[in-house]
Amino acid sequence: MNDKRVLVAGGAGFIGSHLCEELVQKGHDVICVDNFFTSQKSNIVHLLKMPNFELIRHDITLPLYLEVDEIYNLACPAAPGHYQYNPIKTMKTSMMGSINLLGLAKRCRAKILQASTSEVYGDPEVHPQREDYRGCVNPIGPRSCYDEGKRAAEALFMDYHRMHKVQIRIARIFNTYGPRMHPFDGRVVSNFIRQAIEQKPITIFGNGSQTRSFCFYSDLVQGLIRLMENKENFIGPVNLGNPHEFTILELAEMVQKFTGQKDPFDFKDLPVDDPCRRKPDISLAKAKLDWEPVVPLEEGLKKTIEWFKSINIDNYRAPTPNY
Ligand code: NAD
Ligand code: UDP
Ligand code: UDP
Repeated sequence: MNDKRVLVAGGAGFIGSHLCEELVQKGHDVICVDNFFTSQKSNIVHLLKMPNFELIRHDITLPLYLEVDEIYNLACPAAPGHYQYNPIKTMKTSMMGSINLLGLAKRCRAKILQASTSEVYGDPEVHPQREDYRGCVNPIGPRSCYDEGKRAAEALFMDYHRMHKVQIRIARIFNTYGPRMHPFDGRVVSNFIRQAIEQKPITIFGNGSQTRSFCFYSDLVQGLIRLMENKENFIGPVNLGNPHEFTILELAEMVQKFTGQKDPFDFKDLPVDDPCRRKPDISLAKAKLDWEPVVPLEEGLKKTIEWFKSINIDNYRAPTPNY
């Protein structure tokens, strides 16, 4: 009998819904909290019939009183077009949302995990990125609401840990993809696949030589759970991501190969402060959590393409106009 009460904030989102699913399958009592800014009920509708799953529509910038044992904080818009739509709200979500959930964790003596990001490293000068690298973040640019919000959240987590002995975990998540990404989130994997399926030219920002390292959702979910449940009380921050690095051009070519779309690419301007290179050093996760990704990009991309083909895109509303 597994009777942990687990709160997943942002639980209806892309990663959150897969995490909820896994926790429900493990037999935990799962409470999903979400304001549905960048997600929709279809991600979790199949869980609503489960007796150990509960859904609360709530915005984490407001206080929340529940009795729980563990909290995963994934609530935050994650795609550049989403978090830049209302940057002040993005910062509030990271800061006020973290304070509320940390207050909840403190009162309940619950363990709490923060979904931080590789964006805390900004446009990195060291490669690959290790956890002890302090980053190169523009504090006043269009990405700073997200990057600095996540950095402030990490600081808050550490201070609640030091001051109030709250049991924390910090995961620095690198680019993750898979089924249930919002088709209109503007992120590179979802954009390329949707464009290819709709027989529209794939949009490449800049010349496509910038790199990212893509982790399939199932690997990431296992990493998050291992971090939360590790018995040594290893708190992180720890990088969770796939260390195989690809250029954006290589990704586009792969999507074309798997979809059969052959249109010439549509090259557009590179967004401001777009990081040139990104690749996690995951030796800490390997050593402390015995974790590393197992799904190669080819396999994960094929599964993601199948999912995009299976959905009716008309059922999805673009969360923001600037996707
Ligand atoms: P997502 O947009 O699908 O999920 C975020 C969820 O949070 C959505 O369901 C959204 O409605 C909800 N949300 C946003 N603001 C909220 C608020 N104020 N109150 C309650 N709910 C709110 O994105 P995702 O890719 O699943 O990302 C999940 C988390 O992981 C985010 O915190 C993100 O920063 C982090 N992360 C993701 C990636 C990635 O590549 N996917 C990389 C690094 C970090
Ligand atoms: N909080 C919450 N749920 C709880 C406990 C606290 O939402 O179960 C919020 C509370 O509104 C407060 C914040 O978390 O603003 C921080 O709580 P903390 O106890 O750290 O601060 P304090 O209440 O002393 O300001
Ligand atoms: N990108 C692109 N075409 C698109 C969407 C994104 O070339 O249609 C690029 C983007 O400029 C960035 C990379 O792909 O260099 C990853 O972008 P994404 O928004 O997915 O994530 P992030 O920049 O936050 O890693």
